[in-house]
Amino acid sequence: MAEGLKWFQCPVCKESIHWKVPTDELKNVKRFPAPVVIRHKDHYLVCYLDSHHQLADTEVAISFIEGESKE
Ligand SMILES: [Zn+2]
Repeated sequence: MAEGLKWFQCPVCKESIHWKVPTDELKNVKRFPAPVVIRHKDHYLVCYLDSHHQLADTEVAISFIEGESKE
């Protein structure tokens, strides 16, 4: 398995998800666990990575609505 590649079972559809840890982006993260949103088919998963880039927690977001902030 390639460096930085992780997998876990999707809590929604039970399929295996292989994904690449965004190592470069995580270098700029100051606080852990850091949330990473993964789109899988029609649902979204929020994975929390700790400072060792290990999966700390997973949340399911069946729908994902982008909010708009106003000044
Ligand atoms: Zn899925």
